[in-house]
Amino acid sequence: MKVAVIGGGPAGVAFLDSLVQSEVWAGEPLDITIFEPARLARGRAYRKDLDCALVNRQAGYMSVREGDRGHFLRWLREAPVGRSLDDVAVESFVSRRVFGDYLVAHLASCRARAERLGWRVVVRPEPVLDVAPAGGGALVRTAGGAERFDHAVLCMGTGEPADPYRLTGAPGFHPDPYPLATVLPQAVGRGHVVVLGTGLSAVDVVLGLLTLGHEGPITLVSRRGVLPGVRTPQRDHELRHLTVEAVDRLVLCDGRLRLSELWRLFQQEVRAAGADPVAELAWLGPGVPAHDHLRHQLDIIDDNPMQAVMMAALHRVKLRAWRALAERSQRFLVASHNTRLKAVYNPMPPRSARTLLGAMESGRLAVSSSVIDVGARSSGGFEVSVAGGARVPHADVVIGTTRQGLATASGTARPLLEAMTASGSAVPHPLGGVRVRPGTGELLSAAGRPQPSLRAVGELTSGEVYYAGSLFAVVHAAAAVARALSEQDGPEPSTPIDLSGVNA
Ligand SMILES: Cc1cc2nc3c(=O)[nH]c(=O)nc-3n(C[C@H](O)[C@H](O)[C@H](O)COP(=O)(O)OP(=O)(O)OC[C@H]3O[C@@H](n4cnc5c(N)ncnc54)[C@H](O)[C@@H]3O)c2cc1C
Repeated sequence: MKVAVIGGGPAGVAFLDSLVQSEVWAGEPLDITIFEPARLARGRAYRKDLDCALVNRQAGYMSVREGDRGHFLRWLREAPVGRSLDDVAVESFVSRRVFGDYLVAHLASCRARAERLGWRVVVRPEPVLDVAPAGGGALVRTAGGAERFDHAVLCMGTGEPADPYRLTGAPGFHPDPYPLATVLPQAVGRGHVVVLGTGLSAVDVVLGLLTLGHEGPITLVSRRGVLPGVRTPQRDHELRHLTVEAVDRLVLCDGRLRLSELWRLFQQEVRAAGADPVAELAWLGPGVPAHDHLRHQLDIIDDNPMQAVMMAALHRVKLRAWRALAERSQRFLVASHNTRLKAVYNPMPPRSARTLLGAMESGRLAVSSSVIDVGARSSGGFEVSVAGGARVPHADVVIGTTRQGLATASGTARPLLEAMTASGSAVPHPLGGVRVRPGTGELLSAAGRPQPSLRAVGELTSGEVYYAGSLFAVVHAAAAVARALSEQDGPEPSTPIDLSGVNA
């Protein structure tokens, strides 16, 4: 079997890991080509950068191996980074650079294992320009020519920030904060830095500026001004109301899941866990100062029922619920509630929250909501316009971190997707990314048919499955695709594909 892996980031590593771990392929001469024009293994998130950029999940739960959540922690404890890290706790938050080191090391060990199995694994440091189905396989085109594979797996990952105010080219505007180590020194000083967005990348920028000794004020601006919540210690939470069975019952009655019903189940679940969902969500509503929300999150760090319910729901019922909603309900959910949902399911490490809170309390950091425009001034710097008359002092530097939609393609992913869309081998999903069959990742054709030789993993599938870009979701999807290939092309039938866990 000849496989093209398009994108050699964490999804590509997880996919290769699943293949080399599977016994199905023992004795088979697999031929795998990884196309990666940028950073092999690290992807966008885990590149070499400032150490204050932390993984937002505890070390004991970040793993590139499906079903083995201690895999990264064991690697850390074996001191591969030049000093003993054997005291790293399960619940600690490490820098994303270190997680990148792990991905690089693990890719090397997967390649070594593949070699021992007699496989051929080649890395081609060039972008793929087009992929099309061809004679039961896939034709992969790069600038150097076209090559036929039995399967192409798209692992192109997350896009760069959007530029909603069209500031690209304005002196002092940085459209992308990464790498922090290169971008932020250009902003450090006494000037006022405005960060577009209040999500995890905006948190990275604040931590980076403070680490580098920035002395001027920093303002995070967005329409809603909602900061991520704070990650609580990992605990399993059993869902009693918001379950797959409950969703299925509602679908049986109404044909569709109504948002009002989903909200009712969520509220029941949060109440059963001991919190008032309306009061909890009010912290994320208009008029609540960001530092009050952050302080509240730190106050409930040991018992945050809404976060526990949200995480359990993401893992166990998300896919079923998302796909049971009518498209207009999905659109409404994304347009009206995604920011607040993300604040709950994409929280920051407590250490980051404490640093932000300290900066707010000392007057060095502010968060501003209701931003309607940011414009470059002809005299230099930037004007920030806020609805309702609040004033944000003019900015010397603006750094973009906002992203639009559920899945955006940028950089080398964009021309590839444009070519695939133009030829009909990929169909855009109205909410972002491309149409796929959940669980197997097969791209759907214009006629709605699954194309078994073209598959996708990760953020590209977010429109179809909602929130597919976290490491956990990426690893799970990569393993499901690897299993699907063994079902399809394996020498002997393996165990049936298990779709039960593809919710996360
Ligand atoms: C800044 C940042 C921080 C994050 N932090 C966390 C975190 O703490 N915890 C967590 O769970 N998740 C985090 N994430 C989510 C993150 O996206 C996933 O954890 C994971 O890195 C996604 O891996 P991926 O391989 O799907 O995508 P990516 O890491 O984006 O890798 C995709 C690769 O595809 C390559 N590529 C693109 N187009 C082409 C082409 N045409 N041809 C060939 N190759 C191509 C790119 O060069 C890239 O290397 C973060 C994301 C970002 C952006």
